[in-house]
Amino acid sequence: MVNKNIIRIISDIPENVRLVAISKTKSAEDIMMAYETGQRVFGENKIQEMSAKYEDLPKDIKWHMVGHVQSNKIKYMAPYVDLIHGIDSLKSIKILNKEGAKNNRILNCLLQLKISKEESKFGLSEKVFKEIIYSDECKEMKNVKIKGLMAMASNTNAKSIIRSEFVHAKKIFDEINNRDKSFKILSMGMSNDYKIAIECGSNMIRLGSLIFGERNY
Ligand SMILES: *Cc1c(COP(=O)(O)O)cnc(C)c1O
Repeated sequence: MVNKNIIRIISDIPENVRLVAISKTKSAEDIMMAYETGQRVFGENKIQEMSAKYEDLPKDIKWHMVGHVQSNKIKYMAPYVDLIHGIDSLKSIKILNKEGAKNNRILNCLLQLKISKEESKFGLSEKVFKEIIYSDECKEMKNVKIKGLMAMASNTNAKSIIRSEFVHAKKIFDEINNRDKSFKILSMGMSNDYKIAIECGSNMIRLGSLIFGERNY
């Protein structure tokens, strides 16, 4: 089932859209079934789980951290992580830079923009997002690179709300991308809203349940 789901999704989405298979709580067997179809990018939201899977599974898998990142956990993923989606403070960026240097790597990350009015969602306001992106401090850091923007829409069935939130994120993404072409990843869209996200310009979607089925915590 996992392999069929991946193949169906990949054939459905535009070629410029990257699929991150969100494998949190899922087994190595499930991940390997996706891997066999050619999928190489997987996302997790807990560092311990991601590191255990990194150890156990093929080394050409690119691991994305999509959960909220506590700055004291960055050191554990710095040696191998491919992209960190949920960065929302200058403090975390500084730690990424420090850990990147220690590992002789450039750590790629996305800044999370808050587009939902829900209390529980992490992310930066538009104002602080731009302050960080355009700060001299950020430009000077050599071992961290902000590659784009990540956003999560409200958890609602109201498509018009989801759409307006994604449109807002795309507008800010475009403004920054116009000044800096290396700011090029727009990560938005999950199982229940990825089609709207793609219509609004997303080029990286994060799908879990649509690939692997519902999660049992
Ligand atoms: C779990 C998770 C997803 C995937 O959610 P689904 O609804 O299962 O597709 C995407 N993004 C983030 C940040 C997540 O934590």
